[in-house]
Amino acid sequence: MTVSELVVGVNNWLVRRRRRGVRPEALLLLLPSCLQRSGCPRSVRTDVENCQRCGRCQVGEVLELAERMGVRVSMATGGELALEEARGDAVRVVVALACAKELRAGILGTWPKPVLAVENERPHGPCKDTGVDLSALKSALEFFLDRSAAAGSAADEDAARPDPDDACAKENA
Ligand code: SF4
Repeated sequence: MTVSELVVGVNNWLVRRRRRGVRPEALLLLLPSCLQRSGCPRSVRTDVENCQRCGRCQVGEVLELAERMGVRVSMATGGELALEEARGDAVRVVVALACAKELRAGILGTWPKPVLAVENERPHGPCKDTGVDLSALKSALEFFLDRSAAAGSAADEDAARPDPDDACAKENA
């Protein structure tokens, strides 16, 4: 096990010890730019909405998952840019997808903000045409969200739900 993998494992264990329920819009899902197929001409790195969801890589599937759950998505084009966005006031928790080395940098750079780290799949080697275990990613998103949001309900149902922060506070009282 590398030092980065160790940091990621310890971090996730610590984060999972205390569930922090947040509204979907307070959760940022950070994707690595290498998730985009290397031959894809779309400017997904500038704006994920430029993805045509053609099915040639997993960006489209991840965006559909994020859309169902109502969470924000950003593709990290550089470590410092990603950190800047994650540190923003509107973001309360982060689910980050990347290799262990990048995840370690992200976890340390956004501390003490909770970051649940999901290691990517690298069938073609590092930084090229990477993939993701969608069920692991969904599980990480669900961990931070209110259960009804995690089940894939529409974002507008959120208004009818009790504030998950309040629910969490009661749960931990
Ligand atoms: S799903 Fe298609 S359009 Fe979207 S990033 Fe992948 S290859 Fe490009």
